[in-house]
Amino acid sequence: MAMSHPNQVRIDLSALRHNFRLAKRAFSGRPLLAVVKADAYGHGAEQVARALHDEGAEMFGVAHLREAESLRRLGLVQPILLFCGADPGDAGVLADLGLVPMLFDLELARALDAAGRARGRRIPVHLKIDTGMGRVGFRPEELDQVLAALAALRHVAIEGVVSHLAMADEREHPWSDRQYDTFAACLERVRQAGFQPRWVHLSNSAGLFGREFPLCNLARPGISLYGGLPGEGFRHLDLKPVMSFVSRVAQVKKVPAGTGISYGHRFVTRQESLLAAIPVGYSDGYLRALTNRAQVLIRGRRVPLVGRVCMNWILADVGALPRVAVGDPVTLLGTDGSECIRGDELAGWADTIDYEIFCLLGSCNPRCYLGR
Ligand SMILES: *Cc1c(COP(=O)(O)O)cnc(C)c1O
Repeated sequence: MAMSHPNQVRIDLSALRHNFRLAKRAFSGRPLLAVVKADAYGHGAEQVARALHDEGAEMFGVAHLREAESLRRLGLVQPILLFCGADPGDAGVLADLGLVPMLFDLELARALDAAGRARGRRIPVHLKIDTGMGRVGFRPEELDQVLAALAALRHVAIEGVVSHLAMADEREHPWSDRQYDTFAACLERVRQAGFQPRWVHLSNSAGLFGREFPLCNLARPGISLYGGLPGEGFRHLDLKPVMSFVSRVAQVKKVPAGTGISYGHRFVTRQESLLAAIPVGYSDGYLRALTNRAQVLIRGRRVPLVGRVCMNWILADVGALPRVAVGDPVTLLGTDGSECIRGDELAGWADTIDYEIFCLLGSCNPRCYLGR
């Protein structure tokens, strides 16, 4: 990483470990599958997986095969679940790397069966059921037919049964109870068909911290590990922010009243103003929707952005900080002194969620790691 680059994403691995331990306690010590898809929500899958492996994560979850392949190259030996399934043509690779797809497609099951037969063993899958998320998974109405088809595939083992919650971010939402009831009924049908799934799981972070699902023996936290907010009802949790995003002041200048600022002059100074130019923009994942809405931290104080977010520039009104100077650190996400801008606050200014902010900032900027 070029240290001369002004913008940097910092990842606090100690905070990550703290959050993992909090999730572990909330799940009464039962096994956790750490979700590290999307390069660990922009935090770096390699470093995150290493730290959480040390912390005792029992399994890992990614979206796609190539993410899992790079974790295997690191030497990670734990089970890795592929949330987006896999191409049937990759069945042999899955078998050889010990990767476990969430299964929602019988063609993949048939390919895995052939791969298992060729290797003289059974290939594990987690059966994905759509209990009311309305995204992927077999529908409960087609479950019996699916189970009959799977029963004929002697080299595929249903090692897990899994579903995903649609409304868990709203803690008391009755839809989660409906989904759990549907899930329980489906699980019963799986067992009656003669399968003995070892793992039963439903919860993302919100489900894990918000509810108890007695049948489940595995949970899949993602955002909470990164110190994000699983939903409004979770502010009481002691989740520590893991990612911060910092830059430096590149120019300080005084402008007269009535000066139009940045493209479109979407901000016009009302009085003589002191402005700081900061070399961050939407190409760094700092969304244009933050125009005239966000704040940044300089010298431990909150100051407002003025004018449009450009591709590589933003401007802050630093009239409250007369001693501000070129080179001063600027915190766009994270803590400076007693002030903190958390992911959900930054996300709120852009009408989005912290998940998206983390993925964007983390993938657009050089990262460095603190703690261990
Ligand atoms: C991303 C994902 C998770 C993790 O969700 P968080 O809200 O980040 O905790 C869990 N399960 C599935 C199927 C997912 O796609």
